[in-house]
Amino acid sequence: MSDDIVELTTKHTYGTWRAQRGWKPIHVTRAEGCAFWDASGKRYLDLSSQLICSNLGHQNEAVIEAICAQARQLAYISPAHTCEVRARVAQKLLEVMPKGLDKFFFATSGTEANEAAFKMARLYTGKHKIIARYTSYHGSTAGSVAATGDFRRWFIEPAGKIPGVVFGPEVNCYRCPLGRSHPECGVACADYLAYMIDHEENVAAVIVEPVVGTNGVLIPPADYLPKIAEVARKRGVLLIADEVMSGWGRTGKWFAVDHWGVVPDILTTAKGVTNAAAPLGVVATSRAIADYFDDNMFAHGHTYEAHPLTLAPVIAAIDEYRRLDLLERATKMGDVVGAKLRALKEKHPSIGDVRGIGLFWAVELVKDRATKEPFNVPQDKAARRPLVVDAVVAEAAKRGVSVMGWVSHLLVAPPLIISEAEIDE
Ligand code: PLP
Repeated sequence: MSDDIVELTTKHTYGTWRAQRGWKPIHVTRAEGCAFWDASGKRYLDLSSQLICSNLGHQNEAVIEAICAQARQLAYISPAHTCEVRARVAQKLLEVMPKGLDKFFFATSGTEANEAAFKMARLYTGKHKIIARYTSYHGSTAGSVAATGDFRRWFIEPAGKIPGVVFGPEVNCYRCPLGRSHPECGVACADYLAYMIDHEENVAAVIVEPVVGTNGVLIPPADYLPKIAEVARKRGVLLIADEVMSGWGRTGKWFAVDHWGVVPDILTTAKGVTNAAAPLGVVATSRAIADYFDDNMFAHGHTYEAHPLTLAPVIAAIDEYRRLDLLERATKMGDVVGAKLRALKEKHPSIGDVRGIGLFWAVELVKDRATKEPFNVPQDKAARRPLVVDAVVAEAAKRGVSVMGWVSHLLVAPPLIISEAEIDE
């Protein structure tokens, strides 16, 4: 039975971000809390919350119930109309969003949220260019992938680069792109972005993942984001914070920007907003941007925009984050995970760096700790050369642990409800 499912899946559906040959997905039949089970009954501890999105753990009852109740009441109404869930979700979001972001656009993914954010920034500023960073992931459709540094050169440009995006250096204190070290550098990487804005014409916005996710949990030093925000503000350029992965308690705050008291002009998010039980992307904008669209065409929209079923679980999810005290818990359990990973690093010469914030951790695998030479680089993935990290992920799966690997690092980001016993496991 299970083989039929896998065979039908691989023969007739596309596997995500990979060459299709050799894809043998696990057929999952059940999930609960921090684990899921395959068709043979084997249990996997979910150390990456799937795609770092099931923050409340699998099958949270309040979330599921909210979706079912909404489906029975009103499963769809066009975005030209409204319904109670749409208004109430907006009202609820005001409780957790950085103060000042008070008008929302509802899409159906993080990718779409970023697409909408770029369009809004361009319409609002009347300018065109987006400054993104080389090490970044913002989505997979034309505009959002154009702003994605990751794999850009190997996958995207051959297909025809979308103009209008320029790239600058990321903040990465383990491998500083400018060869400097903090704090002596005075966050030169932020100054570099200021320099870019001054020399590029027509810049509408700078987009950053406040904590870079897929590309290895890159946490900025305390002075970085405030400086970027200041640089952008002084030059009349919008700051877009992509909190698709870093939001919803993942770092121990509702949003990562809250660590540094930064309020962006636009914040995009998805994933944990519904515990991934329904596909929702959110664009939160400042009042100034909202006011602009009072008298100017908001030239955007989808049939599934503000879809009642995608909005249904948001209030329940926010209440669950609170009831289970998950922001606090992410910090506390994050310390436990961090201590264990650091101990592992002491024992294992192939671990070059371990870094994290809240329950958002990366384990970077290197050939040589002194030179920091990674086992693999993105070109290897593009060329389909075997990756060491894939072998580690496969071995972990054999042992009943599901963990996400990316080029040369593992992403350890379990559901925020994880217990100490499960971390020990
Ligand atoms: N932005 C960031 C920071 C992400 O991590 C992701 C996905 O992982 C996206 C955007 C794209 O979101 P989605 O996969 O929901 O389209």
